[in-house]
Amino acid sequence: MKSEPRSLASLVRDIDGFDPDSVSVSTAASLIAALCEPVEETVTCPIEEALDRILGGDLISPIDVPGHDNSAMDGYSFSHVDLQAQGETVLEVVGEALAGRPSGQAPGPGQAIRIMTGAMMPPGHDTVIAQEQCQVEGSRVWVPTGQVLGQNRRLRGEDLGRGQPALRAGIRIGPAELGLIASLGLTEVQVRRRVRVAFFSTGDELQAVGKPLANGQIYDSNRYTLAGMLRRLDAELIDLGVVPDHPDALERTMRQASEGADMVISSAGVSVGDADFTRSVLSRLGEIAFWTIAMRPGRPLAFGRIGGALYFGLPGNPVAVMITFLFLVREALLRRAGAKIQPLPVIRARAATRIAKRAGRTEYQRGRLSIGEDGHATVALTGSQGSGMLSSMSEADCIIVMPADQAACAAGDPVSCVPLASLLHP
Ligand code: AMP
Ligand code: MG
Repeated sequence: MKSEPRSLASLVRDIDGFDPDSVSVSTAASLIAALCEPVEETVTCPIEEALDRILGGDLISPIDVPGHDNSAMDGYSFSHVDLQAQGETVLEVVGEALAGRPSGQAPGPGQAIRIMTGAMMPPGHDTVIAQEQCQVEGSRVWVPTGQVLGQNRRLRGEDLGRGQPALRAGIRIGPAELGLIASLGLTEVQVRRRVRVAFFSTGDELQAVGKPLANGQIYDSNRYTLAGMLRRLDAELIDLGVVPDHPDALERTMRQASEGADMVISSAGVSVGDADFTRSVLSRLGEIAFWTIAMRPGRPLAFGRIGGALYFGLPGNPVAVMITFLFLVREALLRRAGAKIQPLPVIRARAATRIAKRAGRTEYQRGRLSIGEDGHATVALTGSQGSGMLSSMSEADCIIVMPADQAACAAGDPVSCVPLASLLHP
């Protein structure tokens, strides 16, 4: 039986020195992780559509792969006991074994078979010599000394044994897994259903793309960035458009969003001094755990829960939207999806220039990695690091993560870089 979820208030009471007005990134991440129940439902998915899906249960192999002992090389098969203890052995080639053909009759003592890669081992034969390692004349093959019993032979079931788990629940199906599933002869697999994510932009200044801008308006770009990141992570998108800065409109949208979704993401309207209704609406409809994180960009970030949906109120600035999504929402989404969480790959690189940084908050900078003349990884900042500047994000291939306890770093100091490709990849 499932226990009732604990209230956010009681969860944060357990965290030492918790300040909802300045939560550290690590505290925020562990609190979020504690609230991410994976979706349970699974669906049957044809193999053609299974790329990037999360495997719903362990996949048990119905067959041995390979199904028979076979040759790993083009060459000659023989029985190892037929070889001379010292010196080379001359064997008589009495037949041919081709991939996909049933094996013929058992060869006799001193007899070899011309064999192709993937062909079944002839009965009684246990060893294969590659064709380029022996000499052939007419129907005789000279096998040099030093052949190892079982060499160049693949054993039945050595890749996957029948009845063994071929893949574990929670893995993300990539190209290797697609091939592996196919090698078992399966046409479909059970996968978790996709996480449903409702998302919207807030702000009176936002105009839809394709329409002319009035004075003071900007185009709503955040919804497109969010949609792109969500799609990369294989979420099911529920696009709720643009919501004006008005409490009633926001409440209506939040209510609608939480009904069908596992996760709700909004952008803007959470900073102090803004038309800041998000916090009050969220407290009314659900629960709020915190609203400010000690990070930059991304300081204003509301996190809470409405019914069964987790809610992330991201900042409005486009770069802050990406950074908060990639370093907090992404993992929550993967947890919710039932995916096994892997630590992010980190590349240690030397800073090409000094990087300013204030201690006490985690800072994220956009960088480009290269290999310097000395062979070491070097990272340079991409253009202006203003949190509205998507161009510098577009130029970046990594995010430089500077932990809270670190101050500014000098040129040449090592810094930690997370490749964007790994953040934008399921
Ligand atoms: P706010 O969080 O509402 O104070 O917004 C911070 C900044 O982000 C402001 O300059 C907004 O105009 C900008 N902004 C808010 N929403 C969007 C959006 N959907 N697309 C692009 N920029 C936005
Ligand atoms: Mg605003």
